[in-house]
Amino acid sequence: MPNHSQSSDTKKSDPTQDYLWQHLFEIMPIFFPGFEDMLVVRTWAGIMPYTPDGIPILGSVPKLEGFYLATGLCGGGLGTGAVLGQLIANLINHGERPGLFDDTSITRFSDKKD
Ligand SMILES: Cc1cc2nc3c(=O)[nH]c(=O)nc-3n(C[C@H](O)[C@H](O)[C@H](O)COP(=O)(O)OP(=O)(O)OC[C@H]3O[C@@H](n4cnc5c(N)ncnc54)[C@H](O)[C@@H]3O)c2cc1C
Repeated sequence: MPNHSQSSDTKKSDPTQDYLWQHLFEIMPIFFPGFEDMLVVRTWAGIMPYTPDGIPILGSVPKLEGFYLATGLCGGGLGTGAVLGQLIANLINHGERPGLFDDTSITRFSDKKD
């Protein structure tokens, strides 16, 4: 089993993490021969919040006044998050609503389109 040098944000022992690490280190050599001899210095992971159509969900929510969504940035949120956050801030603070929000509304998943 390879050494796992824990980074500063993962120093606490956690049964779930320990379980996952154990199984990860068991299956990794299947895909990456030689992995068992490697020193793992740092790891990271997370959920990519893909929407069904691959388009973010941005804008206000009908019937929930004052509630805004800016999520579902799929696999490119690090690149697009800042500007989309700015657009949401402009909507909340100044009522600016670019045409883009027509395509990103949450209603696209609930409105019946006959
Ligand atoms: C391993 C990895 C590598 C990536 N690399 C890149 C890259 O190189 N470039 C790039 O542009 N993008 C990259 N991404 C994608 C980027 O991280 C995402 O697009 C971005 O984080 C999505 O932002 P988001 O706000 O839509 O969702 P998130 O950042 O996932 O935020 C959603 C938030 O909602 C919370 N949440 C979820 N469910 C609930 C609930 N029911 N109630 C309350 N809170 C809830 C979660 O805890 C989370 O804080 C990567 C993602 C991963 C996982």
